[in-house]
Amino acid sequence: MKLATFSRGGVHPADKKDLSKEKKLERLPIPSELVVSMSEHLGAPAVLTKKKGDTVSRGEVIGTAAGYISADVHSPVDGVVVDIRKVRVQSGAVADAAVIKSNETQSNPWTDKHDWKKLSSEELLDLVRKMGIVGMGGATFPTAVKLTIPMGKEVDALIINGVECEPYLTSDYRLMIEKPDEVLEGVMVAAAIAKPKKIIIGIEANKMDAVALLSEKAAAHGYPITVMPLKMKYPQGDEKQLIKATIRREVPSGKLPLDVGVVVCNLGSCYAMYEAAVYNKPLVERVITVSGESISEPKNLIAPIGTKFSDLIAYCGGEKDDAVSMVAGGPMMGFAVYDDSTPMVKGSSGLLILPKMVDDFSAPCVLCGKCVQHCPMGLQPNKMFRNIKYGNYQAAMDLGLMDCKECGCCAYTCPSHLPLVQGFKLGKKMGRKKK
Ligand code: SF4
Ligand code: SF4
Repeated sequence: MKLATFSRGGVHPADKKDLSKEKKLERLPIPSELVVSMSEHLGAPAVLTKKKGDTVSRGEVIGTAAGYISADVHSPVDGVVVDIRKVRVQSGAVADAAVIKSNETQSNPWTDKHDWKKLSSEELLDLVRKMGIVGMGGATFPTAVKLTIPMGKEVDALIINGVECEPYLTSDYRLMIEKPDEVLEGVMVAAAIAKPKKIIIGIEANKMDAVALLSEKAAAHGYPITVMPLKMKYPQGDEKQLIKATIRREVPSGKLPLDVGVVVCNLGSCYAMYEAAVYNKPLVERVITVSGESISEPKNLIAPIGTKFSDLIAYCGGEKDDAVSMVAGGPMMGFAVYDDSTPMVKGSSGLLILPKMVDDFSAPCVLCGKCVQHCPMGLQPNKMFRNIKYGNYQAAMDLGLMDCKECGCCAYTCPSHLPLVQGFKLGKKMGRKKK
């Protein structure tokens, strides 16, 4: 069978999913202390509404959205706020955070089921907003904003991103295998809001068991969902590449998926929408893959937001002696983290503990053109990088720097090991500043 994929660029890194693929979802015992940051999402950080000494209960709002592109933050535990301080989250941003000491016994306020089908699309959208749901693949764009369809626009396709193309990560895979009914119901919640003409779940072909299971379950429920296996190619989980792979539609530069009649939702966010709609449960926990060659026991954990990476590592048996780096997210787009007290945020799909993997050298560009050949956005990474290096930010922007997805395909293929993505991140920041 010929499998669909995007046409331009991309790479095929070893998927390394065998390390954790068979590890069933396991609930992390509630840590004694959590650090819940107000910068859990793309956009303005939430405004912390608690102070030192306040008691908090599970699911209570402790931070309110500070604008349209922002999201509420809820307490993942019953406990007491023992400190308010600034923390650096995995992306490098510094934000206010509530340090919460957890009570020894925890309540479970999410046992009663609700019939979400009685709610209107506006009420469901409001629920998604109030429950603080964001894109859980790493982008953390507030889901309610994504599902707000402006007057006069129609959604032709709702595409669910079950691709999980980053090496090592298996959190979405485990959700699909262990919670297929819940994931599909969450997809139907999103569909009840966006009212698409068609619904497609895109899944890469290294998860054919998930493709078969979701197809079978969707048919059994009578859901109008097509489950589409896709050829393995990175970065297929990027919205633009996924739209191209599934419905052959191109999102022009500077435009959004909605401009071509598409809404893309992450699969983990659909599961969160299921929990919100059925149990009124806010986004206070998520599945995170803890993996890598240098962690003693890779696992897929359900852990509360605010869990420190050190607690995750300890629960997985600790680091091996050859551990050299800690990466939050996948190895292609994730962030190197230097402090294991960094807390999990809503976008923490993975934590990787890795041995030394590449030589620490970078040489001059040899004009091989590999970066151009593999860039899925059709950019010229070598030229952009050279301009940024010499401070010509406007020239880099004229070459399409703002279209760069920071996917890392160029850096992955560069024989000179140039820090291309770091350069592009810096270039974007400086370019915006100059503007
Ligand atoms: S990081 Fe940017 S320039 Fe490099 S391949 Fe990805 S989109 Fe292209
Ligand atoms: S891949 Fe690296 S060495 Fe080759 S052209 Fe691009 S930047 Fe230069």
